[in-house]
Amino acid sequence: MSRVYNFSAGPAMLPEAVLQRARDEMMEWRDSGMSVMEMSHRGKAFGAIAEKAEADLRRLLAIPDDYRVLFLQGGASSQFAMVPLNLLRGRNRADYVNTGAWSKKAIAEARRYAEINLAASSEDDGFHRAPPQSEWSLDPEAAYVHYTPNETIGGVEFHWIPDTGDVPLVADMSSTILSRPVDVSRFGVIYAGAQKNVGPAGLTLVIVREDLIGHAREGTPTMFDYATHAKSGSMYNTPPTYAWYVAGLVFEWILEQGGLEAMARHNRTKAERLYAAIDGSDFYHNPVEPASRSWMNVPFTLADPALDATFLQEAEAAGLSTLKGHRSVGGMRASIYNAMPQAGVDALIAFMQDFERRHG
Ligand SMILES: *Cc1c(COP(=O)(O)O)cnc(C)c1O
Repeated sequence: MSRVYNFSAGPAMLPEAVLQRARDEMMEWRDSGMSVMEMSHRGKAFGAIAEKAEADLRRLLAIPDDYRVLFLQGGASSQFAMVPLNLLRGRNRADYVNTGAWSKKAIAEARRYAEINLAASSEDDGFHRAPPQSEWSLDPEAAYVHYTPNETIGGVEFHWIPDTGDVPLVADMSSTILSRPVDVSRFGVIYAGAQKNVGPAGLTLVIVREDLIGHAREGTPTMFDYATHAKSGSMYNTPPTYAWYVAGLVFEWILEQGGLEAMARHNRTKAERLYAAIDGSDFYHNPVEPASRSWMNVPFTLADPALDATFLQEAEAAGLSTLKGHRSVGGMRASIYNAMPQAGVDALIAFMQDFERRHG
């Protein structure tokens, strides 16, 4: 067996200890006589797995008691619709901040349900920064404010939480959740597809303040109503049981590593070293303003794009996988979520320096 350093944006690397534990428990979970995949979601064994996962997530993020945690399907992309369907609460206006590809998708979907005010946008700057709050203009009639704390494709991250007063703040944290501590009480809704920093694809986490549940607009499909899932402990229908279980193993792993403070130190160090290597060379370039650079997704280009294919080929041969940038921006992208060890980033930097020596 030879595992590579996988820089995929998602589905992404999982901690090896988690994969080993899942392997060890594959044929039989504890003394249940069956694999987690084969269990009834309504049985005692899965009930224990589900509860433990939620409790550990609550501990990690210090989620206040008046927030519910939902374990859903449909990806972050379904939340693009569920958010307006549940949060408009009789209004027809919402604020969105446009910082890149994922913001745009959320905005396009919300426009099906409401009038959207672009409270801020960095589109004119090529999506290379997180607009400071001094540039935002919020609509006093907005039912909520939506933003994307980390743009996975552009590699732009907000290293601060916007202040929206009493208006619920909604965050698509798909590619940054659990990468550092976050004050959940500042948000109305946090949602995230699991496949970046939480676990396998197929699970979507939604953390929602209780008072925002139960106001879905008329005609909302049952499965798109937060109340449906809040009332049933996310078991209105069959939840993604195996992904839920593996996410629980990831939560345990993070706790063992020292929780989110430890993740923040680990992620910050990895990102700083990689950006320093990029900035220290004329051969590599990252276009994002330094204060808005993502700890999780690091896009970079080579001075000569004609070398892109060679770079990718040689990287792959060196055990550095999936570095190709998103088709919309080109170049390279290294996604370095929690599970990417320091050694993986160090190997990438060494490879980049060697490649520059030979081709630069
Ligand atoms: C990956 C991603 C999505 C899409 O997630 P799905 O679970 O595939 O729907 C949405 N937003 C952000 C920020 C992402 O990184």
